[in-house]
Amino acid sequence: MYDSHADTPSQLLRLRDLGLDNTYAHVDFPKLRKGGVDGSFFALYTPAEMPPDAATAYALRMIAAVYDALDAHPEYARLCESPAQAAANKGRGLISIFLGMENASPIQESLSLLRMFYRLGVSYLTLTHNGDNAVADSAAEGRRWGGLSPFGREVVACMNELGMMVDLSHASDKTFWDCIALSKAPVIVSHSCCRALCGHRRNLSDDMLQALGEKDGYVGINFYPAFLSDRFAQSPRRKR
Ligand SMILES: [Zn+2]
Repeated sequence: MYDSHADTPSQLLRLRDLGLDNTYAHVDFPKLRKGGVDGSFFALYTPAEMPPDAATAYALRMIAAVYDALDAHPEYARLCESPAQAAANKGRGLISIFLGMENASPIQESLSLLRMFYRLGVSYLTLTHNGDNAVADSAAEGRRWGGLSPFGREVVACMNELGMMVDLSHASDKTFWDCIALSKAPVIVSHSCCRALCGHRRNLSDDMLQALGEKDGYVGINFYPAFLSDRFAQSPRRKR
C-alpha cells in the first residue's frame, strides 16, 4: 500500500522525530509500519505566496530534514526513487520514502533547478498549489495563463525526459487538459477526489477520470473531509 501525498517534510522542520509514535501528527515511522504502508511520498510543500528564492531554500531545507530522518532511522525506512527500489525495500521490511514537490515555485523559471531537484530524489512535481505560478494555473485561481504557461510546456517535456511524474492535484481544469494532451508519459493526481461525489474544484469530473485512465494515469484519494462530501464543504480551510 502506497500513500501518494503526505505533508510530513514541513512537520519535520518543527523538530519532530519520525522514529517516535507520537500524537502530534498522523505520520511517523512506527505508524507507517503498524499500518502496513509500503511507501509514502513526502511532499515538499511551499506556499504560493512565498517568494521564489525563499521557496527554493525552504525546499532544500525540507529535503535535508528528510535525509536526516532517514539517516537517523535506517531500521525503518529508506529513500526511494524507482519501483525496483520500492520492491527491494519491501523485501527487506523497509518503508520506501519518496519525495514529491508540491508547487513549482522552488524551480523558479529554471529547468536546471528542476533537474537538480530530480537528482536530489524528487519523483513528482505538483505543478501548482492554491495560486497560479510561472508553470501553470491552479484550481483556486485559474486566471494567469489559461492552463500551462509556455515555460510550463517546457517543464512537462523536461519531466517526461527525466522520468519525473507530472502531478495535477491543485491544477486548474485547463492545466489538467493541457497536460493530458501534451505529456508523453502517464500523469498522476496525487491527492484529489471525485467531483460526482463532492463538487469541490480540487476534485476530478468523470470526464477527467476517464481521460486519466485512458492515459494509464493514477489518482490518490484524499481523506480531507471537504473533498469527500458536500456535507463537509464548510469545514475550516486547510492547505490540502
Ligand atoms: Zn495539496
